[in-house]
Amino acid sequence: MTVVEERSGSDLFTAPGDYPPRSAWQRDCTACGACCTAPDIAALAKPLGVPCVNLGAGCLCAVYASRPAVCRNYRPDWVCGEVAPLPTLEARARRFLEIYGLEPVGRGL
Ligand code: SF4
Ligand code: SF4
Repeated sequence: MTVVEERSGSDLFTAPGDYPPRSAWQRDCTACGACCTAPDIAALAKPLGVPCVNLGAGCLCAVYASRPAVCRNYRPDWVCGEVAPLPTLEARARRFLEIYGLEPVGRGL
């Protein structure tokens, strides 16, 4: 089961108790690029910790209109509040993986 599949829930903004309240303030996607970089995405043959080949400048999706269902169905959650404020894509992706207890593989981070 991938990170993307694990994160479904009734309230995506309820952070675990060991995370600080700042986790909940952000409820909209800011195109930080972390979820296009950190998780493995089988539909794109994308391993953990490697930026998606479609992730373009400004962390925008270069194939947005035709992105796969897994990307279309992805919704912001409390993790965005943890990762999006960080200053670099590398830092955001590392924090994303750290939250899920995962280590990046291959090139990228
Ligand atoms: S991690 Fe959250 S804020 Fe960042 S691009 Fe993904 S959905 Fe948007
Ligand atoms: S296809 Fe687009 S939305 Fe999906 S992971 Fe790649 S860059 Fe992100």
